[in-house]
Amino acid sequence: MEALPWKKELSSAVRNLEQLERHLSLTEEEVAFFERRKEERPLPFQVTGYYLSLMTGIPDDPVRKQCIPRAAEFLRFPGETDDPLHEGEYSPLPRLVRRYRDRALIRVNDSCAVYCRHCFRRCFTGGAAGAISRKEVDAIAVYLRNNTEIKEVLLSGGDPLLLDDHRLEGLLAKIRYERPDLLLRLATRTPVTLPSRITGDLVSLLRGYFPLWVVTQFNHPAELTARSSAAMAAFREAGIPCLNQAVLLRGVNDSADVLETLFRGLALQGIKPYYLFQGDLAEGTGHFRVPLRVGWSIIEELRLRLSGLALPVYAVDLPGGGGKIRLEKDHLIKETEDCYVFRNIEGKEYTYPKED
Ligand SMILES: *Cc1c(COP(=O)(O)O)cnc(C)c1O
Ligand code: SF4
Repeated sequence: MEALPWKKELSSAVRNLEQLERHLSLTEEEVAFFERRKEERPLPFQVTGYYLSLMTGIPDDPVRKQCIPRAAEFLRFPGETDDPLHEGEYSPLPRLVRRYRDRALIRVNDSCAVYCRHCFRRCFTGGAAGAISRKEVDAIAVYLRNNTEIKEVLLSGGDPLLLDDHRLEGLLAKIRYERPDLLLRLATRTPVTLPSRITGDLVSLLRGYFPLWVVTQFNHPAELTARSSAAMAAFREAGIPCLNQAVLLRGVNDSADVLETLFRGLALQGIKPYYLFQGDLAEGTGHFRVPLRVGWSIIEELRLRLSGLALPVYAVDLPGGGGKIRLEKDHLIKETEDCYVFRNIEGKEYTYPKED
């Protein structure tokens, strides 16, 4: 049988320096990553031909910064860890993260079409866990049957849409069978990095599991292309609600003008900008973090420019396992010389560094 176009595209993705150099001439910073990675174990490198095609030739290109690694990934900043959210502490089963009483997150798969250089889930993503097994699905289904206070399940990873339709259907069918009442949320970056993944077959499969919401991650207006629009339109036309979670990234989208264009563009396509995330303290992502002070001033400006439909909630997952909070000032208790102290939703105190 002829391989599906998305599978062909994925198997011809760029994975090493030699292949990459055929597409663009690299900076020293970028080449240095490939030299160092022989000794250390950073997030893997992979980028699809489609995502590469969105780049202009300049080193500061916002798409390039998100997918072409630089030696700065080997820098370590105070407070950074490989598991900043302490997800290990909140895992009743190996692939299940339950940080909140009513929501659980399943790490369906550890691979992605493009490895985002800013990835917060890098301790899991691109690792050795592989795709969820039938046995693991069965164990999670039993857990969901016995824990009916869980009302919402997030399918995350890695990227769950790198599973083929058949395996995805196996997982969805099992969960739905146990819990017809669950709200499902599918997190995927494939509309941004591999839009050919959104096939007619996939969309009709997903539509059969309503209520299921798709959450994606557009970070820059350059990612809003005819192909990504077509992928998102397929969800919309099938009645699948779509949200966007953007990450605030230094040198990529840390400006009110860029984010205004992005959020307006998304809202015009029926995609609700849900969160704008402040960077987590994940190892090797320090060069992407924007000082909170700057993030606050950008969001203040956006509040003046955008309607509620286009404006996301500025939020952070607190370092040390504090969970997500909205970065509205009501969570801020005090400021010290080098950090901000926040109260999380359970009333406990967590800090976030100033870094400016
Ligand atoms: C982000 C997240 C959720 C969902 O949080 P919302 O605020 O409802 O979007 C649930 N579980 C985990 C572990 C998360 O990281
Ligand atoms: S798609 Fe998500 S999980 Fe995968 S590398 Fe990007 S941010 Fe990480």
